[in-house]
Amino acid sequence: MFSRTAGKLQPSRIFRCLITKSTLGIPPARTMADVTIIGALDDNYMYLITCPETKEAAIVDPVNPEKVLETVEKQGVNLTTVLTTHHHWDHAGGNEKLLHLKPGLKVYGGDHRIKQLTDLVNRDEVEIKIGALTASTRFTPCHTTGHVCFYIPGKEDKPPVVFTGDTLFLAGCGKFFEGTAAHMQEAMDKLGQLPDDTLVYCGHEYTVNNLKFAQQVESDNQNTQRKLEWAIARRSAHQPTIPSTIAEEKTYNPFMRTRIPAVQKHASQTDAVSTMDSLRCEKDNFRTS
Ligand SMILES: [Zn+2]
Repeated sequence: MFSRTAGKLQPSRIFRCLITKSTLGIPPARTMADVTIIGALDDNYMYLITCPETKEAAIVDPVNPEKVLETVEKQGVNLTTVLTTHHHWDHAGGNEKLLHLKPGLKVYGGDHRIKQLTDLVNRDEVEIKIGALTASTRFTPCHTTGHVCFYIPGKEDKPPVVFTGDTLFLAGCGKFFEGTAAHMQEAMDKLGQLPDDTLVYCGHEYTVNNLKFAQQVESDNQNTQRKLEWAIARRSAHQPTIPSTIAEEKTYNPFMRTRIPAVQKHASQTDAVSTMDSLRCEKDNFRTS
């Protein structure tokens, strides 16, 4: 059900290691929220978000609860909140066990199919407190009807962050399992309105494969070429390619570029939604050697 086409470049053992901020080279106070990337399954990402002031924490898509609690303990933070992007098992499948191991957590999500849900947030700009931080929902139905992204604004020189689940990937987007090209276009436009410097934390490590597809769409896009070379080097060094920024995505992600003439020409279309539809069909059949 879920693409594993990038697996060749990503031995699963990489994702079983906790990836800390130090390995990413990101100083702790760079963003308003302190974000720890935790690998899970073959290529999923969970994210521990901590308020630096209060040490209250939220976890995004805790499919591996033991690993989450190990990180929580190691960092000495107070986990109070689960943010679930969508109901698929590789994102929401750990909720029951996590609540069994740590009862009383608030569980936010946009879909009644999410286990242990305490707060349904299937609309835009619902505010969720994590200590002194405020996360704000962005409702992006398409991959699933209840898909939600979570945005935390920045402050002064600290950039905002957004957790995009399986809606926006680095250089790609999720499959349209429960929606249409028009829904995904709306989702891309909504995320595209976030500030340019917003750091994008997505649900899977699909970047290299996505950029190879982006190259097929726009063969002379130098941004795609540069990012692909960088991403291949990162994966060779067993490092994640997360995060990117909204500004960067607009320079190479074909699904955020459906109004660009070269992308429409490649898709043999003349409007954004038809281009989105054509690109998704083409990507669903895209295989790298
Ligand atoms: Zn999914």
